[in-house]
This record gives sequence, C-alpha cells and structure tokens, in this order.
Amino acid sequence: MARKKTVLVFEAHGDDMEFMAGGTIAKFIDRGHEAHLVCATDNDKGSFELSADELRAARDREIHGAAKVLGIASVTCLGYPDGELADKAPHPVLRGEFMRIIRQVRPDVVLTWDPFTPYENHPDHRAVAWAAHEAASFSHFPLYYPEQIDEGLAPHYVGEQWFFAKEPRDVNKYVDVTDYIDRKIEALYQHESQMVLTLSNAKHAMRASGLQFPGLDSLDPHDFKAIIAAEIKAMAREAGRQIGVLYAEPFRRTRFEGVERFAPGQALEEDV
Ligand SMILES: [Zn+2]
Repeated sequence: MARKKTVLVFEAHGDDMEFMAGGTIAKFIDRGHEAHLVCATDNDKGSFELSADELRAARDREIHGAAKVLGIASVTCLGYPDGELADKAPHPVLRGEFMRIIRQVRPDVVLTWDPFTPYENHPDHRAVAWAAHEAASFSHFPLYYPEQIDEGLAPHYVGEQWFFAKEPRDVNKYVDVTDYIDRKIEALYQHESQMVLTLSNAKHAMRASGLQFPGLDSLDPHDFKAIIAAEIKAMAREAGRQIGVLYAEPFRRTRFEGVERFAPGQALEEDV
C-alpha cells in the first residue's frame, strides 16, 4: 500500500453513507486507510411507527452498529433536528463546523453528497452537500474562520473530494465493490429502523398508485432483508456494468484541482 490516507465522510442522516458509498468505505478501510464519519442530524423524523425520542435512541445505536461493521474509526453526531438542518444551522454556521472538523481530522479525501446534482429533494442532503464542499475547498485558507486558527488549529488542504448522489451526474470514478457488497448490505441491515421505513414508504407509494402489486397486503416491512439486498445489488450491478465488474459504486470526483494535467507522463495513484 502507498501512504495511509484519511477519509472523512459528511452525511446528513445515519444511513446516507452506507447506501451511497458503504462498499467504497469498506474497501478504503480494508486497504489500510482510515475513515471517519460526521452525521449532521439527530435522525428523528424517519419512522411511521416510533416516537421521535424512540427513533433518536434507535438511530444512535444503529449508526454506531453500522460503523463497527465497516470499521469506521470515529463517528461524530452534530445532533441538528432531522429535516430542519438548514433552518437550525444556517449555511455559514454549518460550513464553519465542517471546516473545524476538517482542520481537526486533516483528511486526504472528503466524501459527501454532490451539491450540483439535480432532483435532490431532501433539504438536509442539499445543506450538507454545499457546506461540506465549500469547507473542503477552503479549509487551507487561514483567513476563512480565522478564530479557528487563533484557537490553535492549522489550515489544512483537502486534496480529493468525492461526491455521491441519488441521480449521479458527470461520474468519473467507479469503485469496484464486488468483494464488499455483502459488507455494505450488512452495514445497512444495522439501520433497522430505516430499512423498515424504506419498505413502509414503498408500500405507501404502491397503495397510493392504485396499481395492483401481488403480495402487497402481506408484505411486512420488518421482513426487509431479502428485498433490501436485492435492491442494493440491482443498483450496484447497474454501476458495475459501466466498468465491466459485477458491483460498483459511482462518484463524481475532483483531485488536486486538476493539476495532474501539468505533470507530463505522471498519474495520481488509485487508492481503491
Ligand atoms: Zn439522508
């Protein structure tokens, strides 16, 4: 392995990373790199059956359970209200919090939601995307949030930004996760409340559509494992087709602001 790198993920909710990049994070860690996770919200809106208090407690357990499956080195929960991130943490505040964490963790790679992808309906995803992208782009400028420098933190340059999206655009990096798909699925299973939510929500949509779905009435959202595994594999198979492997995860990626083009005959290494 080349130099050990540090990967920092900024997510809005405690299952974003597993859905979008769980295989890639498992692969980074398996190759000897280190991954840290920052979750911006307290995850207390995503259930049709639990109270907000019950859900917050469940999701706190789930995020740590999934991090353990993947081998994440640290989990930081900022605890802003789910669905209200942009209201409770205005953009400059959230960007400052993310920049502080970047200057503490000093990552080589930042992974987050893509701020430029269209059709993202979740306000928390959009808020995290913009704040993380801007924080990672300017954390090496000492005059940004100078109070952090006065407190003793050093500016830090983030070389790589990797973006995931529900509808990815301009994908320029597919990670072969064929050997990591089972770990990704196992990590998702730890988010039991969200797997139940995913199936419950699908039932709502199916019922509302007026179409006929065989077995819909008897479908128990708590019996989610086979359906989730099939869906995750179908998505990863689609991405895998693009690079001729069984399963992959797609990213839009920027590395060192494109300076590679001024280094004739040389190429940046691929870590995963
Ligand atoms: Zn989310």
